[in-house]
This record gives sequence, structure tokens and C-alpha cells, in this order.
Amino acid sequence: MVHNLSRVVAQDKHFLNIMNGRPVAALSQETITVLCPSDGLAFATIPACDADDVDRAIRAARGSFDHGSWSRMPAFERGRLLTRLGHLIEQHGDELAALESRDTGKPIRQGKADVAAAMRYYEFYGGAADKIHGDTIPFLDGYTALTLREPHGVVAGIIPWNYPMQIMARVVGAALAMGNTLVIKPAEDASLSTIRIGELAIEAGFPEGVLNVITGYGREAGAALSAHPGVDYVTFTGSPATGTAIQQAAAANNRGVTMELGGKSPQIIFADADIEKALPVLVNAIIQNGGQTCSAGSRILIERRIYDEVAAALGERFGKLVAGPHDADLDLGAMINPTQKRKVENYVTSAAEAGINVIAQGSIDVHAPATGYYVAPVLFGAVDPTAIIAQEEVFGPVLTLFAFDDEQEAIGLANHTEYGLVAGIWTKDGARQHRVAKRVRAGQVFVNAYGAGGGVELPFGGFKKSGHGREKGFEALYDMSATKTIIFRHE
Ligand code: NAD
Repeated sequence: MVHNLSRVVAQDKHFLNIMNGRPVAALSQETITVLCPSDGLAFATIPACDADDVDRAIRAARGSFDHGSWSRMPAFERGRLLTRLGHLIEQHGDELAALESRDTGKPIRQGKADVAAAMRYYEFYGGAADKIHGDTIPFLDGYTALTLREPHGVVAGIIPWNYPMQIMARVVGAALAMGNTLVIKPAEDASLSTIRIGELAIEAGFPEGVLNVITGYGREAGAALSAHPGVDYVTFTGSPATGTAIQQAAAANNRGVTMELGGKSPQIIFADADIEKALPVLVNAIIQNGGQTCSAGSRILIERRIYDEVAAALGERFGKLVAGPHDADLDLGAMINPTQKRKVENYVTSAAEAGINVIAQGSIDVHAPATGYYVAPVLFGAVDPTAIIAQEEVFGPVLTLFAFDDEQEAIGLANHTEYGLVAGIWTKDGARQHRVAKRVRAGQVFVNAYGAGGGVELPFGGFKKSGHGREKGFEALYDMSATKTIIFRHE
């Protein structure tokens, strides 16, 4: 059944930036047309900002930080405002889920899951704001030494299009809990929920200039934001190439960064694993959000003696998967834009042409508009670990299977990419669980599970090319602040 939740969203709405607590257009009045990935049709516009708008947003954030209306507000009051924003998000849950789904093409249930996760971030960081504190340190006789956690100042958050509401929430939650002010730039393909939540922050009573939202193209607004000398810290989630450019700009200004740059995450299935329990998790880990997920479980390493059995069971499930419009709420939605669709299709075609075996392929819903950006899920078997499809982040519903003979080989294969974001291990052997979890190079390792609802409390971030710094949990609060040591001499 098709639930037409998208009608909740106003048609032809012109969304605006949020600066100094007010909605504003780009100084140039230029806009970007927003297309729905499900049908390729225009339904909104956002401002196309340039360096002048970025400068204005940074001045707003700097003015607010220097004024102290946020940074010197008691931490529990900052926390209370973050929690209030979370409650407003919950109250507007249906509207936000519909908006996010229409903007990104994701099934409406994923939009709802994103609302629930966003709410949890504001609740978690709202509660954490007054629970992070420094130390007193034993020092010389006649002295007392202590540390404070202080905000960096103005933080720039540059976020991608795959989970805008969730990624905004983890950036806003951690940065604002610590007393920073923020300029956040969502991706040009998916800015609407970020703007809407910026509006809700005004309604929640955030002081002017604390949370500023600026939209525009990455090469223009994003580049200007990451190069601006008025920024004290940058947090970025997106592609490694853009991450490199942003780090170069940060180096030129000698400022810190948090980088979350994607992955090629493995799941290792040992012969003693509970396969029935694993199967739905393995499938979900690659089709959730159409595979456009940094932590997508895109490689499955299977112990050779159960390889055929697992490959056949996965193939059966893959053959039944259907991609369709966001409001039809099928297994997966559309890709974010035509470029992403072509990119995924090119990976699939090149792998098939290179002789890699297609075990199964899902389908595209017969009622899906031909103008939508759909890709059918694909399962590749017996993949050469050095193949392009085994090494590069496809960012689509493409799963690759590999066989291994023993634990050493499994660990070697798991670590055999440039990435190191997440890993899954499936075995009932407790000693092996610990051994393998320690030797897999990934920032987050699941044992007999994968994803498990996101976990706003759990530190998240990469090893190797997947990035550095940590988001989520208390760890993000450390990244979003600096330690100040104060030494008193009292004799
Ligand atoms: P991207 O890295 O280009 O875009 C992410 C954000 O950076 C957007 O807000 C964009 O406007 C901004 N940006 C782009 N160029 C910039 C620049 N020069 N300076 C500052 N900001 C800039 O990602 P994309 O082009 O939207 O997607 C390309 C690939 O990135 C995807 O295929 C996927 O592999 C990867 N990706 C990863 C994640 C993740 O969560 N790790 C998320 C989205 C995309």
C-alpha cells in the first residue's frame, strides 16, 4: 500500500537560511532547486550561498560566542534547550520524517527512524551538557592544579546528504552542549530537515547566532566555510576527497578537525555462527538507506565450509528485494541523485564485465516513476579481494561475498582495504570474539550484531582512511572542547 505522507510537506516551498535567529535568503537571491529522488520532480528551493553569506553566518556565530549568551550560560540551561529542541522534533516527527524522505528518497520508515535517532541525540547531549567536567591534578606542594573543558569557539559543521537529520543532531548536540556556537552547512542535495530544525531551534528559545544554517554548493559555500579564518574547529562527514580539501584548508588556518569519511565495512561469519539470526542483519546492513550509509556492511567474509549455504540463503533474500518510491515504503528507496545512481550502476557493470559472479539481483517496483533514481540491489559472490568492487566504497545496495579458511585469513581480509569504520563478527566462540574484535582495524566492532539501532551513546569514527576524531557518546564532547589547565600557587 502506498502511504502518501509526502502531502504533509508544503508544495513549492522556498526554504531559507537561519542566521542570527532569523530566516534569510542568500545575499545574491540565488537559489538551488530541490528535486525529489523518487520522481526527479522539483518541489522546493534553498538559498545558493556564496562566500559573503558564509562570512555573515560566521559573524553571527562569532558575535554570539563572544557575547557569551551561550558559552557562559549555565551548562544545565544549555542542556535544557537542547532537550527542548529534541521534544519539538518529536512533536513534529511526522512532518520531519516526510520531509526527510521526500528530500532524500529514503523509505518513510527510515525517515521516522531518523527522527527518533535525532531526538535521542538532543536528549543525550542535553543530559550530558552539565555532566562533563575537568580534574584536579596532584602537583607541587603549595599549588593546586585543575583542568576545565572549554569550547573551541565557532564550529563549522559540513554534513552529507545520506542522514542529514541524524548527522546534524550529533554535530549540533555535541558542539552546543560544550558551549560552542555553530555554522552548519548541509549538502545541496538534502538541506530541508536541517533548515526546518534550525527553525525549531528558534522556537525552542535558542539565543540568536548560536545555531546558524547556511545552504549552498560544496565547491562554493562549503569551500568558503572551510577556508574562513573565523572558524575555530571543523567537523565534516562525507567523501575522503572532500575531507582532504577541508583538512588542507584547516591546516592553512591551524585548526582542529573531526573527519568521518566512510568505509568498506566487513562482517565475518564463522562456521559456528547462528546463521538464521545473522541473515536479516546482513541484508539490512547493506540495503538500509539504499546502501548510502558510511557504516554499510558491504563485504561479507564467510568461512569456506558454510560459504555455499550462506551465499544461497543471501541470494534468496536478495532476489526478493524491491526498490521503490519513498512513500511506498519498500525495502529501499531511490539513490540521492542521477550521479550517484550512475556511479553505483558503473560499479556493478564493471564488476560483472570483469567476470565477478552475480548471485542474485533484486528489482525496481513496477509502479516506480521512470524519472526516479532507482538501482536494483546486487549480490556478488566469490569476489577477488583486490577487485575494485572489493576495495572502493560504492555507496549503493551492492554486497560482495568472500570465502576464507581460517581466523588469520579472515582478519587479513577484513583489514585488507584502506578503510576502517565498522566491522561485524559472527561466532559463538567467546575467546574468538575477543581475539578477532581486537585485531580488526575498525572504530566500532559488533559481535553477533551489526548497527543495533545506531547507538547515540557509543563513540563512532574511523581508523585509516575512514577518518579521525570521534562523534557520538561522550567522546564527541571531548573533541568539541579543549582542555585548559589552571595552576594556583597559594604559598
Ligand atoms: P561530498 O563529500 O562531496 O559532500 C559532503 C558535504 O561536503 C556536502 O555538504 C558538500 O556540499 C560539501 N562539500 C563538497 N565539496 C566541498 C568542498 N570543496 N569544500 C567544503 N565542502 C564541500 O560528498 P558527495 O559528493 O555528496 O558524495 C560523494 C561520495 O561521498 C559518495 O558517493 C560517498 O562515497 C561519500 N559519502 C560518504 C558519506 C559518509 O557518511 N561517510 C556521506 C555522503 C557521501
